[in-house]
Amino acid sequence: MLDRWDFQGYLRELQGLGLYRRIIDREGPQGRIIKVRGVEVVNFSSNDYLGLCNNRTLIDRAISTIKTHGVGAGASRLLSGGTELHRELEAIISEFKGTEKTILFNSGYAANTGAIAALCDKDTVIFSDELNHASIIDGCRLSRGEVIVYRHADTGHLRELVKDNLDKKRIIITDSVFSMDGDIAPIRDIVKLAEEFDCLLYLDEAHSTGVLGEGRGVLHHYNINPEPFIIQMGTLSKSLGSVGAFVTGKAEIVDFLINRTRSLIYSTALPAHDIAVSIEAIRMIQRDRERIKKLWQNREHLVSGLNELGIDTGASETPIIPVIVPDNEGAIKLSDFLFEKGFYAPPVRVPTVKIPRVRLTVTAVHEDEDIRGLISALKGARDCGLL
Ligand SMILES: *Cc1c(COP(=O)(O)O)cnc(C)c1O
Repeated sequence: MLDRWDFQGYLRELQGLGLYRRIIDREGPQGRIIKVRGVEVVNFSSNDYLGLCNNRTLIDRAISTIKTHGVGAGASRLLSGGTELHRELEAIISEFKGTEKTILFNSGYAANTGAIAALCDKDTVIFSDELNHASIIDGCRLSRGEVIVYRHADTGHLRELVKDNLDKKRIIITDSVFSMDGDIAPIRDIVKLAEEFDCLLYLDEAHSTGVLGEGRGVLHHYNINPEPFIIQMGTLSKSLGSVGAFVTGKAEIVDFLINRTRSLIYSTALPAHDIAVSIEAIRMIQRDRERIKKLWQNREHLVSGLNELGIDTGASETPIIPVIVPDNEGAIKLSDFLFEKGFYAPPVRVPTVKIPRVRLTVTAVHEDEDIRGLISALKGARDCGLL
């Protein structure tokens, strides 16, 4: 009965190409050391940049909120699923970002697919960076807008394309920090261009929240005001150690989204304890600047070690550090080699990226010896021809 679907044929083909994906689950919490396949390894794979996923203060806050608010939300925000904590978190994010109003989403994926589809009707042209996250690409597909892809971080190309399309509403969409390469979008130039040609600008701050600009994101990093035409989306699931996402900007835009976004209207709200964790996490990074400082010190330590070895880390400028390898097979071999040495760093292959790599992410909770050990393991990999 399943024959005509040929699931097995498809899977065999993937296996033949070295592209078969497996889910690898941890046994225990996220953090500096994780246990996978029964082995404890130093973890260079998470987006838990500040080491907050298993933070004691956040755990206590979650537990106490469960006692006061229960475990489930039971309905969408529009039908009583939200709490006063949801409202409080939205106010805190608006203050943190210097924006007028914020709306929460259940995930970054839900925020991008929902908000982009809601914003862009058939009279809209979307200018999208070619390396934007899959959730942005899917948001564009769900929208009725015309999608024009510009070359990665190429503002000259973007300018040409915008100039050729001045008859419709215009929106530029870009990751602030690109999730697989770790480079930062040319934000100053993009903001200027958006202003000059009367475009909305939608920034995905998934990897800049809690990382750049004292945690406040890329605009703060470059000292740029959150202008009325800028919409910022960010996640609570990466450096904030929780789950969920937000979209923040002008009140009229956020109110429009509340009225139009299907992933918000037709999906159960996040439970209060997840929200309380995000509140506490933002307070924590505002109070304690040392975490972010340590993150960047660790990043510099690792990158300078890799540079000394002559290892190609692409365009990385952030704690996301790709180690570029020749092919898919090479990415798997390098990842397996590192695992043998006690380090967890996943291969990322085509089609997620064009150039295969092992994606390293360094965090604030890595210790000097972890980083020295990883550098030495990579030296070993280079010496036996894996790099
Ligand atoms: C992870 C990620 C998302 C999705 O966020 P989730 O909360 O994990 O759904 C969106 N955009 C970018 C750039 C991301 O890296």
